[in-house]
Amino acid sequence: MNTKKILLVEDEKAIRDMIGFALRRAGFTIIEAENCRDGRAALVDARPDLAIVDWMLPDQSGLEFTRQLKREPEYRDLPVIMLTARAEEGDKVAGLEGGADDYITKPFSPRELVARINAVLRRVSSVPLGDVIECEGLRLDPAAHRVLAGEQPVTLGPTEYRMLEFFMLHQDRVYSREQLLDRIWGGNVYVEERTIDVHIRRLRKALQEFGYDRLIQTVRGAGYRFSVRAE
Ligand code: CA
Repeated sequence: MNTKKILLVEDEKAIRDMIGFALRRAGFTIIEAENCRDGRAALVDARPDLAIVDWMLPDQSGLEFTRQLKREPEYRDLPVIMLTARAEEGDKVAGLEGGADDYITKPFSPRELVARINAVLRRVSSVPLGDVIECEGLRLDPAAHRVLAGEQPVTLGPTEYRMLEFFMLHQDRVYSREQLLDRIWGGNVYVEERTIDVHIRRLRKALQEFGYDRLIQTVRGAGYRFSVRAE
């Protein structure tokens, strides 16, 4: 029995009902909110494990809501799946860059949504608790789920954290986008290869102020590599 709590922020009742029904049947506990204000109150009260946020909401855009959450230490690790009626690639990238961990375009089947939720939850909870991994002063502590640059904490979203962990455990090897999807996302068929580039960009940006972005190297025509040696 799955007892994960999911917050659903969606103003359209018909969609809320459809999603609520499917998720309850899949064993999740659902907390529903009609707008961002109620969604935020539910975060505080219910401490959900994942949030599904609609893009178009009455009081604020779901994208802005997600961006705000990802800026707050308390909520930045909360996985967010964005719902949208927009199918354009630019919007999708904006959604991911806004901090969403995944993205689903309406109309979608409840089954697809459940598969994505499970994939995202697997991704954020399957971190093996091993020793601290250290690389030229950049330290990743799996037990504390924390990354430090010297003594400074590095703020990463759940996907970027997992990506960095994978890279630090597999240094000096080139991985194609397909291999990275397979290893980091667990072969989730719903994620497109372009998504990798968005998360690489986010990871580099987070490492940039500490000068560690140079470790994430693009290998033209092949993929990405983590290495302390110059490109
Ligand atoms: Ca809406």
